[in-house]
Amino acid sequence: MEIIWAPWRLSYVSRVGKEDNGCFICKAAKEYPERAKENLVLYRGERALVILNKFPYNTGHLMVCPVRHTGDFTSLLTEEVVEINDLLKRALKALKRAYNPDGFNIGLNLGKASGGSVDTHIHYHVVPRWIGDTNFLPVVSGVKVIPQSLEETYETLKKCWE
Ligand SMILES: [Zn+2]
Repeated sequence: MEIIWAPWRLSYVSRVGKEDNGCFICKAAKEYPERAKENLVLYRGERALVILNKFPYNTGHLMVCPVRHTGDFTSLLTEEVVEINDLLKRALKALKRAYNPDGFNIGLNLGKASGGSVDTHIHYHVVPRWIGDTNFLPVVSGVKVIPQSLEETYETLKKCWE
């Protein structure tokens, strides 16, 4: 899928080569709160954190991850599962308050064959959906337009976070 107007691509390209052997989720967790905005971290708890997706499918696309670096879902501790689910709930609240979507897709890609880009650190994708957001444009042309910049989304969701 081609994406029109993607200012975040620039920061992605300039990042490649510097930290591509590290894990961006661990880095974001470690650098919280000092570099929270730069790393797009909305919230970090003791065992889980919430990060905006740099390559969103829709405005408000975020990820809820354990702080601990693991790609093995079956290894998650009960305390981690509880905190991840609590942050999923709070993320939905913030997204509802900010954007009033008509629905959500929440999902995990586990393992190399799942189609996810990072399989070494678990992350739930949370994608707000609006009726009509899969309109003729992406279907016909393979083009998707993201109406709000990541910086604006970050500020909006930060204000709506409880
Ligand atoms: Zn990690």
